[in-house]
Amino acid sequence: MSTILLAGGAGYIGSHTAVELLESGYDVIIADNYSNSCPEVINRVEEITGKSVKAYEVDIKDKEKVDALFSENKIDAVIHFAGLKAVGESVAMPVAYYRNNIDTTLTLLECMEKHGVKNIIFSSSATVYGEENPVPYTEEMKRGTCTNPYGWTKVMMEQILEDAAKADKDLSVVLLRYFNPIGAHVSGKIGEDPQGIPNNLMPYVAQVAVGRREKLTIFGRDYDTPDGTCRRDYIHVTDLAKGHVKAIDYVFGAKGVEIFNLGTGTPYSVTEIVETFENVNNIKINHVYGERRPGDLAESYANADKALKVLGWKTEKTLADMCRDTWNWQKNNPNGYRK
Ligand code: NAD
Ligand code: UDP
Repeated sequence: MSTILLAGGAGYIGSHTAVELLESGYDVIIADNYSNSCPEVINRVEEITGKSVKAYEVDIKDKEKVDALFSENKIDAVIHFAGLKAVGESVAMPVAYYRNNIDTTLTLLECMEKHGVKNIIFSSSATVYGEENPVPYTEEMKRGTCTNPYGWTKVMMEQILEDAAKADKDLSVVLLRYFNPIGAHVSGKIGEDPQGIPNNLMPYVAQVAVGRREKLTIFGRDYDTPDGTCRRDYIHVTDLAKGHVKAIDYVFGAKGVEIFNLGTGTPYSVTEIVETFENVNNIKINHVYGERRPGDLAESYANADKALKVLGWKTEKTLADMCRDTWNWQKNNPNGYRK
């Protein structure tokens, strides 16, 4: 059976992907420096799946150590999740973002080349569609103008991977453009565990629900949308993880670059998220309306047809599932992975 290296695999999306890959019969190696995650994740993934996971504590920028990892293991494909992802922080610390996100990509590509590994899947983002493209986004649209350094790192990494594939005709690259992953594994054992004050909507809602934050501020209610709040394409993280399994099956038989949106294709507003969370979980979310957040687009959602057509993948979970599973994780782990 094939062995998949998950760079940044202890994180939110990586850990859920590890579960789905293990349950589909793949062997998994997780390499993470735990800069935004905890080693406890590995135990939880093993608990859920009943399988063992080889884990390395390694900075993916550290070429010597990553090279050693490739020498010790026969790796068939890499999924590159390792990156810094906080939009606001990227505006304050652009150099750290470019250094981390681009260096990890270059190091992985160099080690893959040296060890003859030809398959890579990259965690890209809907953010690469930028400000110009109209919704719903389709994969053949040109990458747009990003509003922050985080987004630019994704644009640049997509370009780097495309150039690498042009130069090496045996390389198979899949760029997965995620929309807004939320939710948690149905077991409640793994989920999103942001450090400090959450930047993203759903973890903030969950922390208000569990009493760690006093109230949610909804950023803007004067957008040109049905209820005036922004609309996003929220996708259950388990559906997203299953998309990676399909992408792995695909990457082995392919050459060149293929891009897939991973979203539901249906947008929900911030107000709808709060209301659904309240109704499904029978819990009130204290909230107020505030100013718009700089850089936010009114709407972002996918046309998800290509992933269905080419990968045979589509989302199965509802917004209610996403809200229920988020709360199940948060209430069972009020402080995330920390005791
Ligand atoms: P996450 O922070 O939970 O996971 C990223 C993991 O990478 C963390 O475990 C972190 O410790 C690790 N990491 C970071 N830099 C590293 C380095 N130099 N060496 C080793 N490990 C390193 O984030 P996530 O939500 O799971 O996102 C995974 C990927 O998907 C990221 O590249 C992110 O940009 C991308 N993405 C996420 C979202 C989202 O909303 N969560 C949306 C679009 C794209
Ligand atoms: N949002 C909000 N309050 C928060 C966090 C987010 O109103 O505390 C809104 C934000 O303005 C956006 C939506 O929720 O319209 C999703 O934001 P998130 O940061 O989760 O994702 P992204 O901006 O990357 O789409």
